[in-house]
Amino acid sequence: MNTAPRVLVVEDEPALAGALTDGLRQDGFAVEKVADGLVALDTCLSRPFDVIVLDLMLPGLAGLDVCARLRRAGVSTPVLVLTARNGERDQLSAFHTGADDFLAKPFSYRVLLARLHALLRRSGPRVATTLTAGDLVLDRAARRCTRGAVPIELTPREFTLLELLMSRAGKVITKRQALDEVWDLALGEESNVLEVYIGYLRRKIDLPFGRRAIGTVRGAGYRLDPDGG
Ligand code: CA
Repeated sequence: MNTAPRVLVVEDEPALAGALTDGLRQDGFAVEKVADGLVALDTCLSRPFDVIVLDLMLPGLAGLDVCARLRRAGVSTPVLVLTARNGERDQLSAFHTGADDFLAKPFSYRVLLARLHALLRRSGPRVATTLTAGDLVLDRAARRCTRGAVPIELTPREFTLLELLMSRAGKVITKRQALDEVWDLALGEESNVLEVYIGYLRRKIDLPFGRRAIGTVRGAGYRLDPDGG
């Protein structure tokens, strides 16, 4: 068994830090969160993490300085920096201080998750990258989907939605959750984009195989059958 990858979330905005922590725990990470740059630095120097999510504007010590000091101290843990929208200058500075990747706010949670998985893959094969539900298989590393021996072509958005459903197989995914995690935080629930994409997915992973993996839970959301339908 792989052990849970350890992530340190450094973010001083409580709502975002809370949402990230909850999401990453559900997705199998062991999460610690801190809201201050100096505390982040101390924490990273005192125990090992597999990956660090680092906001730039922080009390105590700015994110870029945290990153620079970690690298100077010989800590090579992958760092994903969170920047303001259009923060190209921040992104360049982040790379110069030794950050491995960056994501501009506001971002989709699933995109953050995919980036973290990519960083973990580069730094070592600790994380299970394949999701399965019966004969339905989603290979996150190769970005491939198959049903039995049949390859299924998915668009990036379809892939991300199916990844969400499969990572919580057997549990109800609410519309709000899906909109927040697969699209962006600003989409209202009056949008029918989720229903449209559930339709696309069913026509690819279920209908051609005479299966029903994606169930509708009336008034609640959608649930993927852990046996694959
Ligand atoms: Ca901040």
